[in-house]
Amino acid sequence: MKIIDRILTIVVTATITSAIWIVAGGSLIENATADSQRENTRPAESAPSPSPTRAGPAEPGTETPVSDEARNAKPLNTEFARMIEEGAAKDLIIPVLNVSSSELSDTFTDSRGGGERLHEAIDIMAPKGTSVIAAGPGIVEKMFESDAGGNTLYIRSSDGRTIHYYAHLDRYARGLKEGQQVRRGQRLGEVGSSGNASEDAPHLHFAILQTTQDAEWWEPANAINPYPLLKGSQDN
Ligand SMILES: [Zn+2]
Repeated sequence: MKIIDRILTIVVTATITSAIWIVAGGSLIENATADSQRENTRPAESAPSPSPTRAGPAEPGTETPVSDEARNAKPLNTEFARMIEEGAAKDLIIPVLNVSSSELSDTFTDSRGGGERLHEAIDIMAPKGTSVIAAGPGIVEKMFESDAGGNTLYIRSSDGRTIHYYAHLDRYARGLKEGQQVRRGQRLGEVGSSGNASEDAPHLHFAILQTTQDAEWWEPANAINPYPLLKGSQDN
């Protein structure tokens, strides 16, 4: 019995001891593993957290081109969609009677004012007295005589975001007045050399200005090139 007792005691003790060691050791190992996993995952986990802070300074280098593209693409796309919607891109007509698209030349990026600024318009050459007609529909917002533009016309689209600017007119069409609705092709006046245009080279200076609904006719606006729009238009 004594021997059996002693054996039992040894076995029990050994079992308990090893059980303790297994449990304790196991949890130690688990902890160690967890720690090492944490160690392993820490760089990965913490990578996103440094990277946003790193992305801050890094953004101008790496992400700005994308956001620039997005920033640029969006207005262009919405602008294009708007022009399509308005029919501006396909429905503009050359605003001087009997001038064909082959006679147009792109003078949008020509320098003016001794290189101080860009032309940002198209000059459509025609004999004095040739009819100036509305490139698109709109409302005559302003008939204004300026030193440079001479007899000018500001015609705003119905959505308020586009202004067609006509300058150097010899005269306005009879009866034309501010606040009047005009249809595309309606006669607005006559080609001339009023303002700073050369007497020898009468022409219509025509600009397309992108503005906002609440901006006045005289406020700075973004000029877009009329040339490709008129070039693609049907002859009037
Ligand atoms: Zn011009």
